[in-house]
Amino acid sequence: MHNVNPNLIVYFDNRFVPLGEARVSVLTHALNYGTGVFEGIRGYWDEEEEELFLVRLEEHYHRWLTNCRILRMEFPLNPAQLTELTTELVRRNRFRDNVYVRPLAYKSSARIGVHPDEKNAFALVALPFGDYLDSRLGLHACVSSWRRVEDNAIPGRGKICGAYVNSALAGDEARRNGYDEAILLTEDGHVCEGAAANIFLVREGALVTPPVTDNILEGITRAAVMELARTNLRLEVVERRVDRSELYIADEAFFTGTAVEVAPIVRVDDRAVGSGKVGPVATALRQFYSDAVRGRLSAYRHWLTPAYHHSSIAAA
Ligand code: PMP
Repeated sequence: MHNVNPNLIVYFDNRFVPLGEARVSVLTHALNYGTGVFEGIRGYWDEEEEELFLVRLEEHYHRWLTNCRILRMEFPLNPAQLTELTTELVRRNRFRDNVYVRPLAYKSSARIGVHPDEKNAFALVALPFGDYLDSRLGLHACVSSWRRVEDNAIPGRGKICGAYVNSALAGDEARRNGYDEAILLTEDGHVCEGAAANIFLVREGALVTPPVTDNILEGITRAAVMELARTNLRLEVVERRVDRSELYIADEAFFTGTAVEVAPIVRVDDRAVGSGKVGPVATALRQFYSDAVRGRLSAYRHWLTPAYHHSSIAAA
């Protein structure tokens, strides 16, 4: 993650260029004021099939394009064209590794003044990417002293660059205090999500997660895990407000997200969650998710776009 190869091919200013040539002005609006909308997508390399599977591209691009509307950014490409561009980016880089794809749409004017104009740009970067957090033994999380951004301040569902100052403050505080990750509460004190992940609890045999109206990012892994839990584990899944103290009495807890995948939480605020060990629901969902995104479950093959054998479906 730290030494990104400057010869990596990225898509920038409507063409493929080496990363080292993809530069913006220091006056760029998005750099100064946070006026960008991004996505995070994973791709998993399968050695046997010699294929790289991009996970839920359509959902990610749909979310990206609709979120761009929040900043009034019109987008020139549709999801099919973006899929085409992404698979081409992978092929040009000849990746034979797990990858992370970072689409970014941003206000690109280079000038002083927070009021945005109509000048937008977008970029697409894909790079080799391993584990985000090592969560095999379970994470130690803390409730952050920072509250989650409100929909009427900076919409959290928007995946807006500037809103990630909130995540950065919470993540930094958690790590400095010796925890692996932060859990943010809403301004009125309900459990919201992690710094870059949604959260689930297991209570009385049901899966519980905060609703989309509680300032969460509408996670694509969240939706995937809810489907896996209902279909494969026959679990009831409840979207409802979650109190802070439920974190302390839950049987299990885990984060979900493109980067963290399914990451069990075994301690919150120095209290054991359930047994204090990774529980059976988190273990099962982690395995199902891992198999699904690696193309090992035929029922979920439609979640995946093979980058190397992708047949062109882009609309004109
Ligand atoms: N919440 C936040 C704040 C995030 O940044 C992310 C990562 N995109 C998530 C949740 C998880 O969303 P997804 O499963 O779509 O990656």
